[in-house]
Amino acid sequence: MTYRTVAHIIQGEPMQMGQTAIKQALPTVRVQQIDPFLLLHHFGPTSAEPGVDPLAVGPHPHRGFEPVTFLYSGGIRHRDSRDNTGWLNGGDVQWMTAGRGIIHSEMASPQFVENGGVMEGIQLWINLPKSHKMTQPDYQDIKSEQIPAWTSPDGLASLRVVAGQYRDIKGPARTFTPILALQVSLEEGGEIDIDLPADHNALFYILDGDVQFNNNFSYGDSTLIHLRNDGEGIHLKGLATSRILVLSGQPIDEPVAQYGPFVMNTQTELLEAMRDYQMGKMGVYID
Ligand code: MN
Repeated sequence: MTYRTVAHIIQGEPMQMGQTAIKQALPTVRVQQIDPFLLLHHFGPTSAEPGVDPLAVGPHPHRGFEPVTFLYSGGIRHRDSRDNTGWLNGGDVQWMTAGRGIIHSEMASPQFVENGGVMEGIQLWINLPKSHKMTQPDYQDIKSEQIPAWTSPDGLASLRVVAGQYRDIKGPARTFTPILALQVSLEEGGEIDIDLPADHNALFYILDGDVQFNNNFSYGDSTLIHLRNDGEGIHLKGLATSRILVLSGQPIDEPVAQYGPFVMNTQTELLEAMRDYQMGKMGVYID
């Protein structure tokens, strides 16, 4: 296999979003998007005492893309204006299609607030092509046990296929454009080769650990590696216990107009989104 090389090394920037300490790896000043990936936030790990909601993201709208949550640890209650209620626990994935518009909140689950614990996850925004921006909103509540896994013969490397395909294992998420999303875990000495489709843009984000890339340099906590489109795949080796999210996707290659939680193709469409939100066309959020 020929390996892809590094286009950008991005250190997740620590910031505070409401109650939550996050690291923002995308967008950055240098890299606005890795088409079709618009945003990558790593929230936590945050240790919360009983009685505290470390998330507490109140109702807000989205249009024109897919907000995806990979929960690594903790408990979240999602509620939205299309009558969906979702309960996420560590290992679960919430794949939301905002489409023409949805209003949702993400709070720590009552069980989490009662017991306290560690909240950690990744929020990823995946763009939708113009032809699907105004699609009906959808909500995929993907439980940990629905996500198929692969483990290396030595047991030191494993991955879960959330979307797309690894070897002959297919992930459960339905997507509008071809997407690969793999949650990789490496123990010290664990190694893995991952094929990446030639026409996909690709990156990987290291939540924590020490990962040697293509038998060359190694990278650590909260680092996003944006890959060039110049090879068939990548090779990852754990120099310590490491968790990595590997993402690739076919570029949409259309203009991006963004205003906060709305991602469209033109300024006019953003104005329409704001107007439609104010007129209640994204549904009514009832708590
Ligand atoms: Mn949201």
